[in-house]
Order: sequence, then structure tokens, then C-alpha cells
Amino acid sequence: MRSFALLSTVAMLAFLPLTVEAQSADKVPPTVDAKTNIYFYQGEQALSEALKRTPNTGRARNIILFIGDGMGINSVTAGRIFAGQQRGLDGASYDLSFDKLPYTGFSKTYSTDKLVTDSANGISAITTGIKTINGAIGVDGTVVGKKCRGSLKARVQSVAELAKLKGLSAGVVTTAGITDATPAGAYGHTPYRNWRADSDLTAEAVENGCIDLARQLVEAPAAIRMDVALGGDLTKFLPDTDPRKGTRVDGRDLTKEWQGQSPSAQFVSSAADLKAVDATKTDHLLGLFADGDLPSPVDTAQHYDVPGLDDMTAKAIDVLAKNPKGYFLLVESASIDKWHHQNNAYRAMTDVDELSKAVQVAMQKTNAADTLIIVTADHSHGLVFSAGSTREEPIMGLARNHGKDELDGNGHGRTTLSYATGPGGPKDGVARPTPTEDEAVSPDYTQSAQTYVDSAQHAGEDVPIYASGPQAHLLTGTVESSYIYQVMAYALGVQP
Ligand SMILES: [Zn+2]
Repeated sequence: MRSFALLSTVAMLAFLPLTVEAQSADKVPPTVDAKTNIYFYQGEQALSEALKRTPNTGRARNIILFIGDGMGINSVTAGRIFAGQQRGLDGASYDLSFDKLPYTGFSKTYSTDKLVTDSANGISAITTGIKTINGAIGVDGTVVGKKCRGSLKARVQSVAELAKLKGLSAGVVTTAGITDATPAGAYGHTPYRNWRADSDLTAEAVENGCIDLARQLVEAPAAIRMDVALGGDLTKFLPDTDPRKGTRVDGRDLTKEWQGQSPSAQFVSSAADLKAVDATKTDHLLGLFADGDLPSPVDTAQHYDVPGLDDMTAKAIDVLAKNPKGYFLLVESASIDKWHHQNNAYRAMTDVDELSKAVQVAMQKTNAADTLIIVTADHSHGLVFSAGSTREEPIMGLARNHGKDELDGNGHGRTTLSYATGPGGPKDGVARPTPTEDEAVSPDYTQSAQTYVDSAQHAGEDVPIYASGPQAHLLTGTVESSYIYQVMAYALGVQP
């Protein structure tokens, strides 16, 4: 007993210091040298850039508002990965041009009547500061859908028109038809977005004095008329007697009327003609490059002579920037939405890349000190991005896990990108066969959807806002879509 006690005392004395030492070593285990880690290094660089950042509280001479139609966060992330992989780079760590903009926020996109907005209210809220009903543009929420009566009194002014009234120039560029909802957000006022040519108007609309959007664009009073309009929809500007598939029943050729308004007005209808436009001699430029929407860049190389979104953006800036007072320009990458509606992720993601290129051109052609650049969306789409694939595996391909195709509970494979709703859904409840990898990565593949409908529905979650330049710091936090107008009007100094 005694010897045991002695032994344990000796043992305690012997082990005590050692135990303390072991405990302190336990507290701070050895680590790798973080400074040699790429993410740590990049984080340090990003922090040092962020610490240098000071808000630009000056007046904006120019504003360029980019809309990625239907570009929710999933479209940005998947678009970024796709763009990187198309260049043979690591997609996940690739940056789209607007990923680099210093200020970001979120926009709540709902309309006065719906949880999920369409593009009409979506853009109208952003350009006028006033939300309205789905389907309406440039009018407040008192209008009744598809009814002209009362809508003329519901008219609200867009930031583009306010800029014009203060002596600035204004323009609109899109890959959709120029009378589609988003571009019409710059110049249009209508209770119903589909009154695009006069042949679209109802008898009630004509009786109560509503006019079509093509006419609104061309015959707006000079004080608020757009100086540049580039996109598609040629057919809506030509009489139905015109062999270029004109649809107007009033016999008017609005392209000629545009040209007749000023000696420095021009109309062009091909990429080559747009390139040849001398911006120093052109003050009013109308370009209509397709019957309706512009084709995807995936297809243009083979069949069409249409300019890219970056080409149109560059020319618009060249024409507008001549005004020493500045300009407002709305640029829409419309086809993100158009192809999402078809569940064609390849072309939709291609158009996220097109938007990125157009923003890049705008950044190069303007001065960040005097130009507010905003990149946002009017609403999201039900794109789903979920798989166990590695970073090397193509985002357009089959979902993979540890080198094998990921199978669902029924033993079917699936693609990494899919949709909540759309034409890729199970028709008559019959699941589609699993595509091969070659089929999945093809530009023409229609991704699968959970629910079958002819055209995918928009999604209602908040969309991102990216901004740089004067007052860009005001576009942070979670804001109403209509708040973006307030920042633009304030930055330009054109509030009513
Ligand atoms: Zn849409």
C-alpha cells in the first residue's frame, strides 16, 4: 500500500509537467502554411482590394443598365462555369465580367398582382420606379390587363425619358425584338405588352387611343425619343405589303419614317451595315436585324448576318457618348430567358456569356469614375443545378459521382442542369430516356424538367444586382426592383 502511494506520488510529479506541455500543444495543433494556399492568397488580394474601395458619391454622367432576362443566381453560376469550360479553363473559379463589379445586392421582383413577375412589370419597375401588373409597361398598377380604357392616364415616365428631358441622350439594345417587353421598358407605355404592331391592337384599344409599341418607339416626341434602338422585330415596322414579311395594316413603313426625322438619322438591318455606321455622323440610329428575336450566337455563324450583343452595345455607346451631357443606355441579353423557356440550357448559358462580353465592352469604352454600370435581371427562371460531378466534368453533361453516372431511385440517369418546369418534362407522365453524354452536351439538347409545360415558367426568387461607378454603393442589400430606378435617377440627377 505504502509503496503504491509512493509510486503514484513519484508518477504524478514525473508526469505533471509533461501533461501541461501536452495540453498546450493540444490547444494549438500545427497547421499548414496558409500563405502557400491559392484560396488564402486570393482572399488576401481580394481583401486588400476591398480595403482600398471608397464609395463614389459623385454624379453619374452616364448609366448603362444591363438586364440578363431571366438570369437568376443559378444562371449566373452555371453560366460562369459554362463560359470557363468553353475556354478550356476551370469553370468554377472562372469570372464573368460582372462578377468583378464591386457592389452587389438583391432585388425583389414581384409585381402588383403576382408573386412571380413577367418581363413587362419586371423592367417597368426598374425603369420607372413603379411596380405594375404583369403584362403592363410604363403605366402604374391601376390599369386592367389588355384594356386600353383608362391606361393613358396611368402613364409613368421612364428614367430614359427623364434623361432625355434633361438634355442627355438615351438608347436601347436587345437580342429580342425591339418591341418586346424589356426594351419597351425604356420608351413604351401600354397596359398590354403584346400590342407590338398595329395589327396586334384590339378594337377596344384603337377606340380608346392606345397605339402599338413600334409606333411609340418611332413617333415619340423628340424630347423623349430614343436616339438609338438596336434589336429585332423588322416585321413590326413594315407594312403588310412589304416583301420583308411586314405585318403593319396602317400601310406605314416606320423604318423610312425614322430616317426622315433627321439628316443624321440612319436605319440598318445587317451586321455589316451596323459596322459601317459612322457614329460621328449619326445621331439617331435604328437597327432591326431579324424578323423577330435575334438568333442565338450558336446558330448565327452558319445562317445569319446579325451583330452580337457586344457589337450593338459598342455602336450604341459610340453614338450616345457624343452628347457632352451624358446618356442612359438599356442593354438586354434577352435570349437567356427565351432559351430557358425551351429548357435549352446550352443556348441560355451561351447568352449569359454574351451578356458578360457586352458588359466587358461597356467597361472598356467608359470611365468607371463617371459611368454607373448596373447588371441585374427582371426575374429568375426555374433552372436547377445539382450533381456530384467533379470540376473537370462538363456542366452540360450527365450528373456524375465518383466516376459513375448518378442514378435516381428508378435507375435513370440525369443531367447536371435541369428545370422545374418546361417542355423537357415527362409528357403524359412518361419519363424521358436517359441521354448519352454526347446527347447531353449537344447545343440542341432539351434538359429535363420536373413538370411538363410547353414553355418553362419564370421563377420568383430574388435576383442579383451588380454595380460599379457613381452611387453604385447604394445598390446593396435586399431592395425592391423599383428602388433601382431611384438610384439611377438620383445618380443622373434627373429626378422629377
Ligand atoms: Zn420569359
